[in-house]
Amino acid sequence: MSSMEIDLGLTFDNSYAEELEGFYVACQGDRAPSPELVKLNAPLAENIGLTNTDSGELATVFSGSDAPIGASSLAQVYAGHQFGGFTPQLGDGRALLLGEVLDKQGNRLDLQLKGSGPTTFSRRGDGKAVLGAVLREYIMSEAMHALNIPTTRALAVVTTGESIMRSQFLPGAVLTRIASSHLRVGTFQFFSARGEQDKVKQLADYAIARHYPELKESQQPYLDFICAVRDKQAELVAKWLLVGFVHGVMNTDNMTISGETIDYGPCAFVDNYDTNAVFSSIDEQGRYSYNNQPVIAQWNLARLAETLLPLINDDRDEAITQATEAVTGFWDKFHHFWLTGMRAKLGLSTAMETDLALCEQLLETMSGQEVDFTQLFRQLASDLASGNSESQTLFKDAEKFNLWRDSWLARLAQESLSTPDRVEMMNGVNPLYIPRNHLVEHAIDAAEQEGDLQPFEKLIAVLATPYTPQVDADDYAKPAPESFGRYTTYCGT
Ligand code: AMP
Ligand code: MG
Repeated sequence: MSSMEIDLGLTFDNSYAEELEGFYVACQGDRAPSPELVKLNAPLAENIGLTNTDSGELATVFSGSDAPIGASSLAQVYAGHQFGGFTPQLGDGRALLLGEVLDKQGNRLDLQLKGSGPTTFSRRGDGKAVLGAVLREYIMSEAMHALNIPTTRALAVVTTGESIMRSQFLPGAVLTRIASSHLRVGTFQFFSARGEQDKVKQLADYAIARHYPELKESQQPYLDFICAVRDKQAELVAKWLLVGFVHGVMNTDNMTISGETIDYGPCAFVDNYDTNAVFSSIDEQGRYSYNNQPVIAQWNLARLAETLLPLINDDRDEAITQATEAVTGFWDKFHHFWLTGMRAKLGLSTAMETDLALCEQLLETMSGQEVDFTQLFRQLASDLASGNSESQTLFKDAEKFNLWRDSWLARLAQESLSTPDRVEMMNGVNPLYIPRNHLVEHAIDAAEQEGDLQPFEKLIAVLATPYTPQVDADDYAKPAPESFGRYTTYCGT
């Protein structure tokens, strides 16, 4: 059956396809044998102006079988450092950019399918995705959005009716996701590595116009561009640490220019606070561990900066000096965002010199104590409200915690904020619900093994308002049972 064009009600304006010829290969999705719409993110659909409500048509479009009117579908090319080693050509091996739509606020958004079939860039992969991995990205990315963390978003999930071979045969599925763009550090690396500096410039100008238009008038736009991406990434990674998120595969092809979290493969949230937390089965050296994430973000930025050196200054040494200074500035930015976030988590409404030490002492107090990271901050607020000291029960060494607590309470006493206001402030930034690994796995298993989407639906409903207690949701705020054991995640599933 040949493919049709279907009206989704969306207005496309495909700047990448039109302005960046040579940066992609035009491409179509596979025809799915029996596409079925499993989930549509209704509020997001509404926000981008999607008016088609025919679930059959939505299923054929969001499986890649039929194209939406106005789309110009393509696979983007990019390179990337994967676990430190450079691969000169990656690209969308199982993704298809349908095009760009403007949302109701006028934001330009990429509409991309993931799992719609092979492309020129698939290498040995099948270009497909399986339902479990697709639901996982849906859950994680929507949870991050609800936590006010910049991220790609999930618009739809479709099953294709195919059986896909992984460790066993699993239901094939396609995720439709939305991003402010899919420009990555690796996109710049692809052209830089081939010595195509004119293309790097074209890409930088495109990225500036799309994401940092205020830099167009700058005297040194490319240096300022590095600083702008640096600041976005510093804020992003600080936000990850503040909720206990481990991305798991911070390769340069998985780091966006926009500063959005992208590619929810082996990511996970920590239960117990653990600076060395690693979940990915292949991250044996802990390159992408919890605490190493800012180090890696800065390393990735250095790779971006390298591609731009010829644009920064004709004198290469001078360019290196300027770019190095820009990249080095990451740490100040990161610490600023992190400390600002920690102050809020601890209910501090003012800034004092001693706050950094107070925050660091808390982390030091938590280390090795098997303290649930998410629960602790909520409990600190509950204790303030009740006047009790339940928080200490979360620690093996309660005495050590109580010493820290005394200094925290002494610090709070230096502010005039009322206790109810402080509790409200803390509960507004410290989530009660995060996508806990055992809940995510349960939702995926039920869907994949039994076709039961109830646990998935309930989980995303709870995670949509992570700061507000909900009825019948007590279990969602609890750590994994002992029997869940050590959690391991896998790439490319
Ligand atoms: P990721 O680690 O998911 O960011 O993917 C790294 C690279 O592998 C990208 O170029 C992907 O397009 C490609 N890739 C991952 N899974 C598949 C697959 N099943 N088929 C084809 N390419 C894939
Ligand atoms: Mg990727």
